[in-house]
Order: sequence, then structure tokens, then C-alpha cells
Amino acid sequence: MTKALIVVDVQRDFCEGGSLAVAGGNAVAANVREYVLNGGSGGALYVVATRDYHVDPGAHFGEWPVHCRVGTEGAEFHPAVADLPFDAEFRKGEHAAAYSGFEGVDAAGSGLSLEAWLRERGVIEVDVCGLATDFCVAATAKDAERLGFTTRVLVELSAAVNQG
Ligand SMILES: [Zn+2]
Repeated sequence: MTKALIVVDVQRDFCEGGSLAVAGGNAVAANVREYVLNGGSGGALYVVATRDYHVDPGAHFGEWPVHCRVGTEGAEFHPAVADLPFDAEFRKGEHAAAYSGFEGVDAAGSGLSLEAWLRERGVIEVDVCGLATDFCVAATAKDAERLGFTTRVLVELSAAVNQG
């Protein structure tokens, strides 16, 4: 079964010190790094990252503190994951809220959605991790399941806004 690991939004603004920090974000970044570099990514053939990437997302800024604005340091990947060999990066949310990585588009300019990119490579199984468990990780995993991918959330490689 061809599997992909989807690393959701491990960006500076979602980690300690960022504008919308999730407690445990820095640890998630370090653990994801370890998992990819020394843990074989759990057998995933592909590793992709999603990135919250806001220009003017309307009411999303207001519902949440301003975060991951294009061109700011906060939108960058956390330093622990920035140099990981991601096979692709999917950016989402330029002009509207986008919680699911499946709303993202290939940053390399292929025009492919995350779903199309995965299907092109025969991926049928996905592991999802990152920030935050109860928002973008959950939305990404729900979409993956709805689209028919065998889906698993790696809770030990994720952190939640609401710890309950
Ligand atoms: Zn956002």
C-alpha cells in the first residue's frame, strides 16, 4: 500500500513564540524531524507538508489572531522541519480560511491539489500529523477519509489547541 505522510502546518506562528502558538508545537516540530530523518516516516513513501499561507483571509483574521501571513517569519516552517526533504508543499488559505490540507495547492506550481498529487502517485493510505490536532490536522484527516484514503492521525506527532 503506497502511503504518504502529511505534515500539517508546522509553522513558526503555531509554535511557542508565534502569534497563534499551540502548546507543544516546538516539541512536535522536533519529533516530526526525528520521525522523518531517523524513523523512516513510518513507512511512508512520500512526505508532504501543508502550510497556512494567508494574504487576506477575510473573517479568519478576527476569529483568530493574525497568523501565517505571507512574507512574514511566522508563515515559515519551524526551523526543525524547514530543511526536511518534503516531496511537495501545499499552500492554503490565501484569501479565505482553509483548515484542511486538501484545500491546498502545490507550491511548486503544478496546479495540483493535494488529492490529485497523491492520486497521481498511487497513494491510497495517509498518515496525518502536525498542528493543530483539533483544527487543521482533524480537518485534513476527515477530508482524507471522505476521499477514500486509509487514514491515521499520529497523535504523538501532533498537538492540540484544546488539550481536552
Ligand atoms: Zn489560518
